[in-house]
This record gives sequence, structure tokens and C-alpha cells, in this order.
Amino acid sequence: MAVEEAGLDPCAMAQEIHRQIDYQRGHIDAGKVARALDITKISYDALTTYEGALLTNDEHTIGIISVNTNAGVWRRRFTIAHELLHFLNPTHRQTETGFRCTRKDMSAAGPAAGRHYLQEKEANQFAAELLAPRARFDAYMSQAPDISAVVEISQELRISKQVAGRRYQDLHPSPIAMVSAQNGKVIHVRYGDGFPKLDLEIGAALPEEFAVRNCSKSAGSILTYNDQHNRQRENPCLNAQVLKQQEGFSITMLTLKSG
Ligand SMILES: [Zn+2]
Repeated sequence: MAVEEAGLDPCAMAQEIHRQIDYQRGHIDAGKVARALDITKISYDALTTYEGALLTNDEHTIGIISVNTNAGVWRRRFTIAHELLHFLNPTHRQTETGFRCTRKDMSAAGPAAGRHYLQEKEANQFAAELLAPRARFDAYMSQAPDISAVVEISQELRISKQVAGRRYQDLHPSPIAMVSAQNGKVIHVRYGDGFPKLDLEIGAALPEEFAVRNCSKSAGSILTYNDQHNRQRENPCLNAQVLKQQEGFSITMLTLKSG
């Protein structure tokens, strides 16, 4: 298999792989794809400071991927796909010790500048596109946002709920915010296009109202946002759906209630 004709766009490269393997549905075997694209070895190691690494030469003609076994099996698949893009894109540059990618690198997505950040962002775009083909989301896009869809997609595609949730948020036409929390404290808020910025600080307690599935009357009064004139506004009523995870983690999907 070869993907040179797809150019350097990470999404186009992933879609070219889907075309060549005649992808229809179900999960993608990231290791099999990597080996078909000249990765000679995937080693599984208990890594402590990073999630994955790629060892390659300047010409990117040979490649070995190292994957952290302290991560869950589904996360390892994302790591393999992420490292594969560093290998496939000849403009990606490594340091003396090769590409070493941390968990933070694996979530790089925003507009921050710099070669390293851009490379990580591209690797994440490729991994998301490869493992979560956008065609598999089509059936959900005409329905109102629902966190049960994220669970279904996660299970079918064997990707973490975080990855499935980010992908769902990016592809769904409705404005969505995803709030990650641990033990009831906010650790990250990810805003989709068109979702107003909330007064929800990192470390703040997650409003109890988010523990309910449907819109709660008081959810609107807890969260405020600043409009384009920097005036504080009360939020429109929010729909909040919570997905409890292991070790006290939770993901809350927020959508704006229409009408
Ligand atoms: Zn990386």
C-alpha cells in the first residue's frame, strides 16, 4: 500500500487508506495498516513519560513504532495511527531521539503555532480520520446530539469515548461543548463551533445540574457567558448529558436548547 498520491493533507491520506482497504464498517486494524505502509515493527513497552514513539531515518523509509502498554488497548490503537502519520509525512522532523509523543501531544488540536505543535495536530487529525471514518457518523448527523451515539460509535470503532466524543463534536452540525471532569471537578472544556464561552473554570466544581440527562431550569442560571460586546449574559437553557467513566472521570455533553 502507498498513500503518496493523496498528498500531505492528513485527512486525505486517511481517506486514501480507507479507499485502498475498501472500508465499509467496523473498526480499523491500525497495526495491520501500519505494517502495510512499511512500519517494520511495533513494540509494546511500559513507557512512563510518553505515549508513543517513532524511530525512523531522515528519508522515512524504515520505521519502528513503540506503544505505551500502560494505556488501554483502544488508546494504543490511536497511538499507532498517530505515530504512523509522523512516518508517512516526509516533512515531519524528529529530534535526535526520534519522535516521542506525550499524552498532551496526542490531544493537540487548536491553533497554537510552531512546527512541533503543527506536527502533533496533523498526527491527531490523521488518527481520528483513520480510526473514526466520517462516513460512519453520517447516520447520526441528522439527529439531535445524543451522548449515547458517542458510546455506540466508540464500541463499533474500538476507540476511546474521548476520541469518539471529539470526533462527534467536530462533525455534528449543532454547537456542542464537551466538559471533562474528574471527581466532580472540571479538568477540560472543549468548545465546538458556535458554542458560547462558558464561565466554567478549570478546577471548578461541575454543576450538580449536569448530573441529569435533560435540561434543568437552573442550569441556565449557573453558567453565564460574555457576548461579542463583552456583556455578561445568562446562558440559554442547556441540555446536559453525562457519561460516567472509570476512576471518577466523566464526560458531559452540552448542547443549546432550541426555542
Ligand atoms: Zn506525535
